[in-house]
This record gives sequence, C-alpha cells and structure tokens, in this order.
Amino acid sequence: PRKPFRGAPAAGKPENMSDCLFCKIRDGLIPAKVVYRDDMCVAFEDINPQAPTHVLFIPHKHIPTVNDITAEDRELVGHLFTAAAKVAQERGHADPNDGYRVVMNTHAHAGQTVFHIHLHLLAGRPLGWPPG
Ligand code: 5GP
Repeated sequence: PRKPFRGAPAAGKPENMSDCLFCKIRDGLIPAKVVYRDDMCVAFEDINPQAPTHVLFIPHKHIPTVNDITAEDRELVGHLFTAAAKVAQERGHADPNDGYRVVMNTHAHAGQTVFHIHLHLLAGRPLGWPPG
C-alpha cells in the first residue's frame, strides 16, 4: 500500500463549488487572461507558467477530479482536448517541428492543487519525459 503523504487530497478539495477558484474564474469573479471560451469550456493563461505556452482548459461544469468524470461528461471532456488542440494549432505548436503536452493531475500526489478539472496545455520549450 502507498505510504501516506503530506497534503492528503481531501485537504485541498473545496466543500462545494462556491469555494472553487476555477468556478470563480469561469464566472469572471476572479480575473484571468482568458484566451478561449465557448458554451462548454473556458481557457486561460496559467498564473505561474511552466512553459512559454501554459494554458488551462476547464469545463464550465464543476468536476473536482478525473475520478469524478462520469459517462455523461464524455463529450465535455473530449471537448477540452479539441479546444486545447485548437489553441495549440493557433500558436504553431501543432507543427511537426514543434510539439505540446496536455495533462491532468489527479490528487495531491500527482500535483493537483485546484479541485476543478483542468487540462494543462504546455508548449514552447522541450518538455522532458518522464515528468517529475
Ligand atoms: P494543478 O496543480 O491543480 O494541476 O494546476 C493548477 C494550476 O492552476 C497551477 O498550474 C497554478 O499555477 C494555476 N493557478 C492557481 N491559481 C491560479 C489563479 O488564480 N489564476 C490562474 N490563472 N492560474 C492559477
């Protein structure tokens, strides 16, 4: 069994969506540099970018973690990928000589700090593998 670690996932999980940072960004209550928005998702620049392109794609729907995705969310989650690919393409990262990474962290051990699912789009520098 996995050893317990500091910052257990539940500790970072807001009680309800009114406490959720990304719901507030979605609603414009907290400012963000929004780069894309449609009826299913919002994309905005990460406040602490880890690469020249670092954009977060969130569904309007508050879903805390990948574990909470249900069959009814399939279209929504697929949509995050097509939106991310669109922004990647607009920025030239879809070029075969360039590249990009999309990733979702689940729970604190994997680096999740905001409990409203978000697809990270990272690009603009060589990205090492495996990630840390
Ligand atoms: P996670 O660590 O949960 O996978 O990703 C959360 C991301 O949200 C981090 O990369 C972090 O820099 C970003 N972030 C945290 N707070 C804010 C904020 O208030 N505004 C924006 N734009 N990004 C944020």
